[in-house]
Amino acid sequence: MARYIGPVCRLCRREGQKLYLKGEKCFSQKCPVVRRPYAPGQHGQVNKKLSEYGLQLREKQKAKRIYGILETQFANYFEEADRIPGITGENLLRILEMRLDNVVYRLGLGRSRTEARQVVRHNHILVNGKKVNIPSYQVKVGDVIEVKEKSKGLQRFKDITDTTASRIVPEWLEADMDNLKGKVVALPERDQIDIDIQETLIVELYSK
Ligand code: SF4
Repeated sequence: MARYIGPVCRLCRREGQKLYLKGEKCFSQKCPVVRRPYAPGQHGQVNKKLSEYGLQLREKQKAKRIYGILETQFANYFEEADRIPGITGENLLRILEMRLDNVVYRLGLGRSRTEARQVVRHNHILVNGKKVNIPSYQVKVGDVIEVKEKSKGLQRFKDITDTTASRIVPEWLEADMDNLKGKVVALPERDQIDIDIQETLIVELYSK
């Protein structure tokens, strides 16, 4: 599956805020958003006032980048969010949150969404006892997500969980980090999704 493989810190600087794409580095003074708080490129330090369209576009780009999704897949998610009952923007965020790579990240089994995606791709994760290596797999309420038995002893997971031990797991998930395991106990409500996105701007963009 296609994914962005360019320099990710540029994406944060472009959006003018931390998108937490790199794990530990994001919390350190080495974060380029802290060191160079302006957009990348020759004209990055010029202060431009964004049009209404520009604001909507930036919000969509930000959401795509946070979840590591490319344009077509994001547009497909929007179509699905628009089709199902409820508030379209909230449906969209819920669909993004219920991706397997995001759930693995939220449980603390990846220091970043990128690492969580890799953990899934490398066959370390079981859903309800069955191997699933598709990062975009949509989990459901009641699903049990865990690191497979053979992988539990890997140094990699020790390193990951040492770093994520203080992470707060959202209420819609139940984590059992001693056993590298978690469960989806509810659908995430908007106030339980702690990302700085104004989803209404994305809905406005696609509704044009
Ligand atoms: Fe973004 Fe993290 Fe890079 Fe900072 S260190 S710019 S938050 S990816």
